[in-house]
Amino acid sequence: MTNALKSGWLSTGPQAAEFEMEFASRVSASHAVALNSCTAGMHLALLALGIGPGDEVIVPTMTFCASANVVVHAGARPVLVDVGETLNIDVDAARAAVTPRTKAILPVHYAGQPCDLEEIYEVAAENDLVVIEDAAHAVGAKYRGLDIGSDQLSASFPDLRRVTAFSFYATKNITTGEGGMVSLSSADLAERVRLLALHGMSLSAWNRYNAGGSWRYDVPVPGFKYNMSDIQAAIGREQLKKLSKLQQQRSQIAERYDHAFADLEGVSLPARDPQSLHAFHLYVLRIHSEQQIERDGFILGMRERNIGTSVHFPPVHLHSFYRQEYGYNAGDLPVAEQASEQIVSLPLFACMSSEDTEDVITAVRALVKPDGRG
Ligand SMILES: *Cc1c(COP(=O)(O)O)cnc(C)c1O
Repeated sequence: MTNALKSGWLSTGPQAAEFEMEFASRVSASHAVALNSCTAGMHLALLALGIGPGDEVIVPTMTFCASANVVVHAGARPVLVDVGETLNIDVDAARAAVTPRTKAILPVHYAGQPCDLEEIYEVAAENDLVVIEDAAHAVGAKYRGLDIGSDQLSASFPDLRRVTAFSFYATKNITTGEGGMVSLSSADLAERVRLLALHGMSLSAWNRYNAGGSWRYDVPVPGFKYNMSDIQAAIGREQLKKLSKLQQQRSQIAERYDHAFADLEGVSLPARDPQSLHAFHLYVLRIHSEQQIERDGFILGMRERNIGTSVHFPPVHLHSFYRQEYGYNAGDLPVAEQASEQIVSLPLFACMSSEDTEDVITAVRALVKPDGRG
């Protein structure tokens, strides 16, 4: 951080370049491009992959609105599909949603639990689609032993074009305040994203002011202002060093919750896929309202006990823009709709003390009982 300030490079410069190399190496990707958000990463991935008006992109409805908004910004149509019981995209629903206009699938690694990537890549390969992974929750997660974002994940699909977008927003597993990164295997695509991230200028400022550089640049395409600053990158480099430790702390808290809530009636614990390493960005309980307490009552009860919880997420297809623009209605995507009435995210931060965790457990157990008589 002090290095970044002393260097005089406050905007994109050497720290961002180092952060990109270190991040790419951490997730085993050939390339990474640092940006000012995950949203920017998904938007630029769509544009760099040539997706635009007339195209359709398949997106799960159980996600943050950004995953679908970027498709709208690219001029394409988001085709929202249901999720399975893990709350990750229902791959059969995705397969069924493919039309001749479908160009991409944008799966979300919900809560930090990897989607079934093998099946998703298969659908993509069969239908000549690109894959843009929303890995906002999934830095540090692994699928079948490989890091989310790794080139190797799609080794059995050598022609598949794929970009993974990570978030370093304030609440995410590692943070730069605001920030994001894309990882990818293709050098050409990485260059395209880089170009679009800084006004479409064909040489970044760093290159321009380098010895032997020139003031000349061209704008072959009108780009965006999506670059990451060196101040953010310096923070990101320190965060990345701590990722394994932070990851371990999150898993320990999640395990403690699992253990503490295993005997409760009317509550389901987060699904865990044995072939994956969960990043535990979120710890999501499902409250079966018909059994002891309604979900909204649970949230209020937690608040009365001074514990803030949240709902991730209200389904995208029920937001007014998506209803009005694309005609979605309640009942269209029933698994996500039912889940959205049951889910509640408990506090989960790497820096939570043992007492904080115990307070959450005590509050939950005061509201929901093992014997079903609340
Ligand atoms: C936080 C989040 C994003 C957006 O990340 P930003 O870095 O804030 O753009 C996208 N998708 C999901 C699922 C998220 O939770």
